[in-house]
Amino acid sequence: MNFEKLAQQYTVASLSGRYITLDHIEPLLQEPHRKPHVKIIGHSVLEKPIYEYRIGTGKTKILMWSQMHGNEATTTKAVFDLMLFLESDEAKPILDAVTVLIIPMLNPDGASLYTRANANAVDLNRDSQDLTQPESRVLRAVFEGFMPDYCFNLHDQRTIFGVDTTGKPATVSFLAPSYNDAREINPTREAAIQLIVAMNEVLQHFIPGQIGRFDDSFNINCIGDTFQHLNVPTVLFEAGHFQEDYQRDVTRKFILISLLAGIECIYENVLVAKNLHDYFLIPQNNCVFFDMMYKNIKIKYDNKEIITNFAIQYTEKLIENNIIFEAHIKEIGNLEGFYGHFEFDAKEAIYADNSHPIPEIGQKADFYLGNKVKIVNGMPNI
Ligand SMILES: [Zn+2]
Repeated sequence: MNFEKLAQQYTVASLSGRYITLDHIEPLLQEPHRKPHVKIIGHSVLEKPIYEYRIGTGKTKILMWSQMHGNEATTTKAVFDLMLFLESDEAKPILDAVTVLIIPMLNPDGASLYTRANANAVDLNRDSQDLTQPESRVLRAVFEGFMPDYCFNLHDQRTIFGVDTTGKPATVSFLAPSYNDAREINPTREAAIQLIVAMNEVLQHFIPGQIGRFDDSFNINCIGDTFQHLNVPTVLFEAGHFQEDYQRDVTRKFILISLLAGIECIYENVLVAKNLHDYFLIPQNNCVFFDMMYKNIKIKYDNKEIITNFAIQYTEKLIENNIIFEAHIKEIGNLEGFYGHFEFDAKEAIYADNSHPIPEIGQKADFYLGNKVKIVNGMPNI
């Protein structure tokens, strides 16, 4: 596959940004050519429909679901891009061998509210044993009915994650979840690992050094751990931060490339050729990033002057159908080993704001540095 070409070619232009709800995806699911592939498979707490999209006649079955966490829409954009590819002539040979079932929005209530949890404030990714929520039961019913050979569990991760200590953001992270406390590797988990190795090989060409490996502590309440435990190779995908791409319309392309690479690998049946060791060479995800870092700021404290650093983090708020990024001061201090997606050297300019002589953690990131630089919502307005 020419992944770069495919990623450019297949983009659903009507889906962009961070706020993706049923209102955005329903018109796409109801397009006449697509309708035969689409079915309502259940309803959310607030009685909103949960859809599946199924394509292909092949023996090998792949199940994927997105937006189990309502405020994680990047992979939803990617699965709609993927549908365009799957509906093209070039996908026909693949679909003779593979059947793909996509649940594009498992948590439509959370999507609408822009929350991680569902409308009952339950994290669906901690409900895979008790199945207390209708959305969890819908996914389980599809899992049991479809009997997938592979599962793709699609998520977003926050901007705080970097790749180990390299100072690079974790733009895409993967995990082959454990199926037991000992984190052993059985043939099921091995297949998930090999799939990740294959996708990582492709992705490294596009985002070298920006792929991370998630922590594999076992938690049977997480859906991936449960499905792995039920002997279906399951891969966790985490769409993360790419430089300056807060709307995640660039990262979305790297997710599409990952999905294409994963499907190709399953189609070509080349998983066994992959080296397990290469999975453990993918550096681990590490909480080392803030959205902004301001260095060498002078503050006056107790009649003394101190030179220090500020870390600033965005909070995402849903306001009138838009996601607003509100910047707050998160940490003050040495902050050794941490990075900012945006970094600024204040060169010992003195701090001031409209109310306090010294900054407080949690306050909005609006302040002055000396008499030349004004910081508004975390960014300099010079
Ligand atoms: Zn998630």
